[in-house]
Amino acid sequence: MQPFALQEVKLTGGPFKNAQDVDLKYILALNPDKLLAPYLIDAGLPEKAPRYGNWESSGLDGHIGGHYLSALAMMYASTGKPELKKRLDYMIDQLARCQAKNGNGYVGGIPQGKVFWERIHKGDIDGSSFGLNNTWVPLYNIHKLFAGLRDACEYAGNKQAKQVLIGLGDWFVDLIKPLSDEQIQQVLRTEHGGINETFADLYILTKDKKYLETAQRISHRAILEPLLAHEDKLTGLHANTQIPKVIGFEKIATLTGKRDWSEAAMFFWQNVSQTRSVAFGGNSVREHFNPTTDFSQLLRSNQGPETCNSFNMLRLSKALFLDKNDVSYVDFYERTLYNHILSSQHPEKGGFVYFTPIRPNHYRVYSQPETSMWCCVGSGLENHTKYAELIYSHSASDLFVNLFIPSTVNWTNKALKLTQRTEFPYQNQSELLVETAKPQEFSLNIRYPKWAENLTVLVNGKAQSIDGKPASYVAINRKWKSGDKVTVRFKTTTRLEQLPDGSNWSAFVNGPIVLAAKTSTADLTGLFADDSRMGHETKGKLYPITSAYALVGDPATYLNRVKPTENLRFTLDSLTLQPFYEVHDARYQMYFQTFSQAAYDEQKARMKQQEAEALALEALTVDKVNCGEQQPEVDHQYKGEKSESGYDDEQFWRRTRSYITYQLQNKTRTGKYIDIYTLENTTPDTMQFLINGKPAEILSRAGKTIRLKADDNEVITLTIKAQDGKNTPRFHQIRLITN
Ligand SMILES: [Zn+2]
Repeated sequence: MQPFALQEVKLTGGPFKNAQDVDLKYILALNPDKLLAPYLIDAGLPEKAPRYGNWESSGLDGHIGGHYLSALAMMYASTGKPELKKRLDYMIDQLARCQAKNGNGYVGGIPQGKVFWERIHKGDIDGSSFGLNNTWVPLYNIHKLFAGLRDACEYAGNKQAKQVLIGLGDWFVDLIKPLSDEQIQQVLRTEHGGINETFADLYILTKDKKYLETAQRISHRAILEPLLAHEDKLTGLHANTQIPKVIGFEKIATLTGKRDWSEAAMFFWQNVSQTRSVAFGGNSVREHFNPTTDFSQLLRSNQGPETCNSFNMLRLSKALFLDKNDVSYVDFYERTLYNHILSSQHPEKGGFVYFTPIRPNHYRVYSQPETSMWCCVGSGLENHTKYAELIYSHSASDLFVNLFIPSTVNWTNKALKLTQRTEFPYQNQSELLVETAKPQEFSLNIRYPKWAENLTVLVNGKAQSIDGKPASYVAINRKWKSGDKVTVRFKTTTRLEQLPDGSNWSAFVNGPIVLAAKTSTADLTGLFADDSRMGHETKGKLYPITSAYALVGDPATYLNRVKPTENLRFTLDSLTLQPFYEVHDARYQMYFQTFSQAAYDEQKARMKQQEAEALALEALTVDKVNCGEQQPEVDHQYKGEKSESGYDDEQFWRRTRSYITYQLQNKTRTGKYIDIYTLENTTPDTMQFLINGKPAEILSRAGKTIRLKADDNEVITLTIKAQDGKNTPRFHQIRLITN
């Protein structure tokens, strides 16, 4: 199975075409010189415009520049707009200038890059999940540049990008040359994107074996080995750290014939897509994989599935589909494309979403070009450039129609054009029109989706007897000529899909489309993100789960309560269900709890009590850190030595044998106490607490909670020191509270 080049497929209408157009505007609203500034600064060249703020000036400097190259290259391939090529060529030229100035092949935006990489080269490695030698995910950052340069060659044919990429690749090969395999694995403990994949790509570009060897050397064994043994050890791991590594395993497998690596990738895909994903295709809570048997955190959190995860799951699905010719990868791809990727962009303003909560009656936040420089903006810029990548595919002789999206495909080598006219999912039909220079025989393979019922195919108005079943292709083999018209019709029904943990939460799904109800437009604080570190997180109130609409009574009646109106809209009592991707600027409900009447009454009372306690604690909280969780720690300027973090009994933690510090914000100066929660009972004198450098007054120490007296500064730096190099207890959470 081969994909078509983006240049060969054009979107012609519908929501995906709109998303592409809106993304184009967002791409053009960004300033290449601002994105280049970190690279120029690091190379010691004058910057042409100040760098952007937000994540672009707090340690991850340059990461958006890498994504931007990919977005420009793919959007150029999809639309042919000259301005995109002009910008891409300009950026590559400037990066080449930085590389020439650096003199050793290196080019990067990481602050103090030269000092940082020199330490790694010498084997001085102190890594945890998101920090390497106290730098924020440097390999993740530089992977974006590797991928951007690759995409500039691959999608836009930029030859200079290939030279810069080879120079950068050779620099990296030399950088890690003195390191033992063990030291490399230590480096790989820190998030590193799909750096192994890009070395496999460098091998494809150059056929130089050293890159393929490097790709294998920098494959993370701690993730690969359980997958080779078909063990799912993913619970508690930072989700988006892992998915790109697996894309690398699959690519390396196709180049080396290591079938077990490919099987590891399939095993990972199977588990993540079938046991770890919610209806809209996303996975994880607060960026981490939750237990497959318990999605309750995901239901409660405002930090639902992250868009980057689905960006990468689509890349993995595409790779496996092309490798295995298995259409079940397309079923997941389609589900995630409509319901997560498409929904993650504001359809008018173009802003990108980071977290998509499934918590009932919550909402999402959108990025803005000037303020938001998050990972999901980087992957978001790319997401909407390449909707055409898998609508069609082909073998040596035959054409495959995978998705029902209005578009045209020009199969250049066969002088064949196919035009697809459809209003799916608002209409359960698609028309395919053939144009060919001369009549030719081949199979037109039309996907019979897993969700479709009664699929029929007509050629020039004549019904075909078809040999096909859901989750396969229907093949129409004949001598095709210009003007031939194929009509595909099918039925969809609305189903209730339970969460994978088997709990009593379900979503309504029609065909591949996840439905949701807009429930309120009140209290959407931070709907369009400011430039604060956590601008991507909702700031508005969490509405009690017990107030959400629930399906109560006999389960056999639930679907009967859903009544179709028009255009994929349905009523459910007072709610209107519609495609989730249409829901914007609003609180929404996608998941519904199901109850017998008695269970409903009982549960309601219990949850009310628990929720009241949790909300009461939140109301007293001025600031809090979830120890051992990536983003909260970064946001509180975590620093530490001889410290490790982990996830046990469904809780994150961090401990140290030396020291750790966090900064807590006390802008209103209403925080009076610092409560430190640990996972085990604390023993006196195993640690020392400092507040803004002075010994803290310990007010109480009871079981798993330690209370310190806060001082009244606006910023409170809390330092916890271990005694005699012994491990402190595992810290779970730190809260600055009013009383
Ligand atoms: Zn992200």
